[in-house]
Amino acid sequence: MSVQPKTPEITNDSMEDRLYTVKYDDPGDSHLDVKVPDICADCETNDCVSVCPANVWREGDDGVPHIAYENCLECSSCRFACPYDNVVWEYPETGSGVTFKHG
Ligand code: SF4
Ligand code: SF4
Repeated sequence: MSVQPKTPEITNDSMEDRLYTVKYDDPGDSHLDVKVPDICADCETNDCVSVCPANVWREGDDGVPHIAYENCLECSSCRFACPYDNVVWEYPETGSGVTFKHG
C-alpha cells in the first residue's frame, strides 16, 4: 500500500503585500506616458488599466489614465495591450527602476 505524502500548507501573501516588498529606485521622472491623450479619452477598453499587475495605470475622470510609475515592474504588458499603440514606454534611467530579488 502506497503512502500519500501530505500536502504542505501554503499561505500566499496578497498581491498588495507582495508588491510592498518590491524595491524601486525612483528616477524622478516617469518612464511611462501616453502619446496622444485624446485617444485615451475616446478609448473604451482601458486595457492599460486592466492588464497592469501593479496597478500603475488608473482611470482618470477625463478618460486619460493616471500613471503611478513608481510601482512599475517593467513587464511591458501595457505597451502591447494598448489597442492604439498609444503607450510611451522606456526603461527607467540606468540604475533606477525596479530591482528583482533573483534577477
Ligand atoms: S489602452 Fe491605450 S488608448 Fe486606451 S486608455 Fe490605455 S493607453 Fe489610452
Ligand atoms: S510595464 Fe507592466 S507593471 Fe509597468 S506599467 Fe506597464 S503593465 Fe504595469
